[in-house]
Amino acid sequence: MSDLGDRCAAAEVIEAELVRVRLPLRTPHRAAHGSEAEREVVLVRVRLADGGEGWGECSALARPTYTAEHVSGAWTVLRDELLPARLAARPAGVVGHPMAAAAVEVAVADAVLGPTGRSLAAALAEPWGGHPATAVQRCAVLGLDGGPDRALERVAALLAVGVAMVKCKVTPREEDLAPVAVIRTAWPDLPLAVDFNGTADAAALGRLDPLGLAYVEQPAPADDLVASARLAARLEAPVALDESVIGLGSLDAIAELRAGAVVNVKPARCGGPLGAVAVVERARSLGLRWFVGGMLETGVGRAAALAVAALPDGALPTDLGPSDAYFDLDLTEPIELDGQGHVLVPTGPGIGVRPDRDRLEAAVVDRLALRR
Ligand code: MG
Repeated sequence: MSDLGDRCAAAEVIEAELVRVRLPLRTPHRAAHGSEAEREVVLVRVRLADGGEGWGECSALARPTYTAEHVSGAWTVLRDELLPARLAARPAGVVGHPMAAAAVEVAVADAVLGPTGRSLAAALAEPWGGHPATAVQRCAVLGLDGGPDRALERVAALLAVGVAMVKCKVTPREEDLAPVAVIRTAWPDLPLAVDFNGTADAAALGRLDPLGLAYVEQPAPADDLVASARLAARLEAPVALDESVIGLGSLDAIAELRAGAVVNVKPARCGGPLGAVAVVERARSLGLRWFVGGMLETGVGRAAALAVAALPDGALPTDLGPSDAYFDLDLTEPIELDGQGHVLVPTGPGIGVRPDRDRLEAAVVDRLALRR
């Protein structure tokens, strides 16, 4: 285990707080699994015996439409299992629920690192012998509601602020496929990808594959790696897998079956940044390319995910965007872009951001304190 992992495991948590918050999204996020108009997440705050305090975020969506994990379930698991175990310094013995576990891991890491002045990004990069990136290239994720003209406007606006790559959320419906072709015609050299969230069919793939895509994300359902392998053998574009990446074993299976060439590493789904680093290491050893994906996190979760995206490894552009891509007002100080349109990685102690007290109070739906 890394030095940070050891220190987190040894940290003595004496107090924890669960805070359920709801924030309006600037524009609804549309994908094959549904549309989100607001973002509800569970935050975890911990206090350590040495006085350190930290924050983490459970990035599960409000409803179990994308993963089985969802906000109410995560609240229950955190309240009844993960936090009582952590306060009692015993193993939780919980199966699954990586996003809930990630909230605790990030909060503890934030609390451990805070007094040292080191950033999470620096702590994660240390075993790699390198310095973390201070800013990372961005792949903007685009829903295609509004038709081709609206899509062209939005891509033009994104390119004007330095986006390195664009990924369209698609289904096999014509109203999603047509704008992708229009975007490709307008920008023949743009690194362009699509994400089917498991819903692709042969006709849709036949239509999109000639467009020279950077990758086709999750064409087949999460658990169907054989179908993914068959598609990967047929397609010109590399297949990227997202929902299929559920741990180290899934990476071995992806590589063995040649089910994909790229993996979307979502730190929340890996149980936190430490698990995500292990997934990245395995991906590298298997010759898979990787990038860090987002879950519409608030600043708390996005800062933690950016720490993984900053690993000195030449990852593909991250799905993570600046705060104003999601919220008028983020919960934390905003995650911002540098002058080239790259997402700045927080460099302050721990995750490098804190919930703003007033904005947090305005967004609270429920809260609960737990003590040892
Ligand atoms: Mg995806």
